[in-house]
Amino acid sequence: MTQVPNVHDADPIPEAARAEIERMLASGDLFRYTAPQDAPVALLEREFAEAMGVRYALAVSSCSAALFLSLKALDLPRGARVLIPGFTFAAVPSSVIHADLVPVLCEVGEDYRIDLSDFAAKLDGVDAVLVSHMRGHTSDMDAIMALADARGLPVIEDAAHSLGTLWRGRRIGTIGRVGCFSFQSYKLVNAGEGGILITDDADLVARAVIMSGAYEHNWAKHIGAPDSTLELAFARWQNRLPLYNLRLNNLSAAIIRAQIPEIAGRVRAGRANHDHMAARLNASPWFSVPEALAGEERAPDSIQFNLVGMDGPETRAFAGAAAARGVKVQIFGQSADNARAFWNWQFLPGGVPELPRTRAMLMRACDVRLPARLTRAECDVIAGALLAAADTVTGARRAYGT
Ligand SMILES: *Cc1c(COP(=O)(O)O)cnc(C)c1O
Repeated sequence: MTQVPNVHDADPIPEAARAEIERMLASGDLFRYTAPQDAPVALLEREFAEAMGVRYALAVSSCSAALFLSLKALDLPRGARVLIPGFTFAAVPSSVIHADLVPVLCEVGEDYRIDLSDFAAKLDGVDAVLVSHMRGHTSDMDAIMALADARGLPVIEDAAHSLGTLWRGRRIGTIGRVGCFSFQSYKLVNAGEGGILITDDADLVARAVIMSGAYEHNWAKHIGAPDSTLELAFARWQNRLPLYNLRLNNLSAAIIRAQIPEIAGRVRAGRANHDHMAARLNASPWFSVPEALAGEERAPDSIQFNLVGMDGPETRAFAGAAAARGVKVQIFGQSADNARAFWNWQFLPGGVPELPRTRAMLMRACDVRLPARLTRAECDVIAGALLAAADTVTGARRAYGT
């Protein structure tokens, strides 16, 4: 019989990274600006920009750093307000605060997407929008871009968990002014830590490059093909911006580059696993897996679903029953100090707002990791454990007649 798979271990790093890492260990050449050209970090930026179909990419130490630099690069006044979804990782409001800006939270619906009526209602008085595609769930980017464009508001996409996701055939992360991705170990491409921002905006990327730590004339190593717009932008910002030193190192770049050819396969396998699992869970009255939006092609490495008709204690009992069967279920709003529950963001200036819809969603939204490497049989073992756990909990209720 198939065992419950370990969904927490990472995948091995492709063999292709090994020779390059050996070369770096021998030479000690780990800093992106030592080589006169074609350092592994610069090659990563070129390859990633090409793969995403954008002009510019800047690799940095994390997606949080990419978000921070994107916000700084927008050149907003200190204290400007940035609209973010109320369901995201704590790093997102943190990056806004780090950039001396003020996060404004909007509601997220039970499908984990931005609640567009609350979004529209909160746009007045906001200076920028940061859309977080939490767990790879794409909000309606047509509606968001139309609302933001109508007010001239820049949109940053937090695509940390959306590498490979498409919206009406366009790559997520290329729709807003800037897109930010993560290479932290729980994302599709794993370098332990790392991030990248992509944009077509020369002035924005010039600012971000300098602030990321391209001191003196190191920005010149960010110019691949001749690009007078970019060169003029660098000249304009020379010596005028602080250096935050959020650079990526060559070792990380080698580990990331070796995984780029694997992205398409991981996306396909992850989507197939997810959709199979979703069909099995949706066949039960106790679970509801929200559909992808029309126009959204997902790249999941986990599954989220809502518990239906269970009260608070039953919800917790369900997580316990699943754990007893070897499957860890995170219910975002039920675990202590969860970093994805907005009420734990007590560092927010002015205190934590109330978001009743988002709170209700978080109290019954479950999260199970589903790495692309799982076989169909392993997915079935996980689905079976979840279905059995729900039956145990709800069967106990029937037995007690409550
Ligand atoms: C992981 C994640 C981040 C943070 O990425 P880091 O690279 O760890 O800084 C931000 N937003 C979302 C949606 C994420 O999943």
